[in-house]
Amino acid sequence: METVKEISLSERDGRHIWHPLTQHKTHGSALGITKAQGVYLTDENGKSYIDGISSWYTAMYGHCNPQVTDAVTRQMTRLDHVVFSGFTHEPAVNLSEELISVLPDNQDKLFFSDNGSTAVEVGVKIALQYHHNQGQKRRVLLAFEEGFHGDTFGAMSVSGLDVYNGPFSGMGLEVLRLPVPVGDNNEKVLERLRELAGSYDIAAFIFEPLVQGAAAMKMHDARGLDALIAFCRAHGIITIADEVMTGFGKTGTFFASDHLENKPDIICMSKALTAGLMPMAVTSTTKEIFDGFYSDELSKGFFHGHTYTANPLACTAALEGVRLLKSDEIQRRISEISGWHEEFAREIGEHPRVASVRNKGVIFALDIDIKIERYGSFRDRLFHFFMNRGVFLRPLGKTIYILAPYIIEKEEMDKIYAVIKDCLDHLDEFTANTSRE
Ligand SMILES: *Cc1c(COP(=O)(O)O)cnc(C)c1O
Repeated sequence: METVKEISLSERDGRHIWHPLTQHKTHGSALGITKAQGVYLTDENGKSYIDGISSWYTAMYGHCNPQVTDAVTRQMTRLDHVVFSGFTHEPAVNLSEELISVLPDNQDKLFFSDNGSTAVEVGVKIALQYHHNQGQKRRVLLAFEEGFHGDTFGAMSVSGLDVYNGPFSGMGLEVLRLPVPVGDNNEKVLERLRELAGSYDIAAFIFEPLVQGAAAMKMHDARGLDALIAFCRAHGIITIADEVMTGFGKTGTFFASDHLENKPDIICMSKALTAGLMPMAVTSTTKEIFDGFYSDELSKGFFHGHTYTANPLACTAALEGVRLLKSDEIQRRISEISGWHEEFAREIGEHPRVASVRNKGVIFALDIDIKIERYGSFRDRLFHFFMNRGVFLRPLGKTIYILAPYIIEKEEMDKIYAVIKDCLDHLDEFTANTSRE
């Protein structure tokens, strides 16, 4: 009889587990990870990898950061979870004060949920109900082309990447799309918004401010976005910044919205919120939005709630995360990394196989000069090339991006840069094989 010990995690996984974003027939088995510490992941064979994308932008202060794990360990012996409807607790209250201190000045109220998608659902529902409460019939949403806002139905509706949502197209909310403003088209995009606002009752405009993560770190122009937000404000359209990826220092400031003159009415946060330790999300709003629900009428309240709302352990992790974000050490590292990226962008931008490079804060991305499918075998080859060399990166199509933890050392970042350069130098070996498939 087999004993569990003789079989790898990968094999046992294959029996019962259905992975996210995976075609199990063509995809290899999942790699067993047994340890995550600082910037390193270790697999079940003992090989370690630099986590070049902070496990989807969550573990920004390093995996198992002791300041976070110690606080959560203390908290979990005192108060694990309690209903947040009618009760409150210290971790949530402390977090609310700390989070408000880093959010744009117009943000005043925080609504808790569980993940980035629910943060978006909450933002969209708040915007729709705000108009409903005012007796206004506004139900159309506006979003950027190629945006990504999550995988639940509302979030899917506003997302513009068909590869995720094709089977469900036409089943969601009514959404209009705008191209992103990239500088020279700013006037045209604003004009398009003007036209749409003239023909539809637009309730809200949702956008990933400045960087569209899932669209392969596509970046756009802050002044162009500012103009769109200003137009929305003047025309009663609620603005929702989905900062699930960009929040908590990624673009060099606390939030990407800090680069804007016109602040959004609603901000969605998750991913790095809890320093990579626990799932949780927050949707913040202005007082004006909150006041639209404040009434003697019960039905004007916001009747949305998840069982684990404001989980005390997650709030504790988030509190320490925000404290770390505000610390001199992390702030210094964020600007150091931005500088390293600037330099690497200049250097690698000259490489004959690089079509374009872009960077903002700790986000770096380059597009390889090659024609391929977004989810073809090419990106899998890139992935394995990096993993074999001890670096975990997750290329998107022909885009290679870095979003490493803030605590990464220069030598570790240099290793990431070196494997990327190595990959570009050996690209012909990939392309020769790719074109056959
Ligand atoms: C990841 C992401 C989401 C969805 O968050 P989940 O926690 O995966 O549901 C939404 N918006 C943006 C911008 C994201 O990057």
